[in-house]
Amino acid sequence: MIYAVLIIIFVFGTMIGSFLNCLIWRLHKKETILGRSYCPCCRHRIAWYDNIPILSFIVLRGKCRHCQKLISWQYPVVELITGILFVMSFIINFQFSLQTGGQAIFYQYPISGVLSLIKFWFIIAVMIVIFIYDLRWYLILDIVTLPACVIVFLINLALGMNWQNLFISGIIGGGFFLLQFVVSGGRWIGGGDIRLGLLMGLSLGWPGIISSLTLAYFIGAFIGLGLIASGKKKLGSKVPMGVFLSVAAIITLFWGERIVEWYLGTFLNL
Ligand SMILES: [Zn+2]
Repeated sequence: MIYAVLIIIFVFGTMIGSFLNCLIWRLHKKETILGRSYCPCCRHRIAWYDNIPILSFIVLRGKCRHCQKLISWQYPVVELITGILFVMSFIINFQFSLQTGGQAIFYQYPISGVLSLIKFWFIIAVMIVIFIYDLRWYLILDIVTLPACVIVFLINLALGMNWQNLFISGIIGGGFFLLQFVVSGGRWIGGGDIRLGLLMGLSLGWPGIISSLTLAYFIGAFIGLGLIASGKKKLGSKVPMGVFLSVAAIITLFWGERIVEWYLGTFLNL
């Protein structure tokens, strides 16, 4: 029974992933989100049976049915990742282990569990859009971050987080990048990073914002060194910071408390 639920959520997640792919493309092309999906190359309308998440990509062997142009790996990867993260969110929010046959233990009361799940799904969706967009076009769009700030702030208030906590973590997240922006005269980072920092603060609260920023710089340094070592980038190359920040935000969303505990235990011996 529980596996049926997980499969349904996975399929739902891949559908949202498919929507996010479409949204990313249309944000880039400044098109309305309404209207049928089409091939970006030949603009042929995509039939519903060619628009099934993951499966269609496999059946079509990654090519458009009409123009045979290769479809980006981004499409199935985003669908798959969204599906997996949606299932993980469900398992974490309803705190059950699959070993016990999926005995769900609703913490507090079910309604807050559902709302918390929606918050996870929302943050994941937004961070995936930011990740892909910044990776491809080196830009973090305000039209994504600013409405998300408002929505996630309201959800967190409804979940009983106190506004002072969110306020402070929002200032830390935004201020951290604002400071770098001012000091460097806008050369190190873009204005989009400031809004993303604010969004992360409002999403994760204190101390989550601290662990997510720390984590982002660890991931960035790790991947940056790898790219420099492999000769793909030079020191001082432009770095899409939003890529690391969005990954760090999702990891902190899932395991933030454990990261803080580990950090305090390892470095401060608390
Ligand atoms: Zn085509």
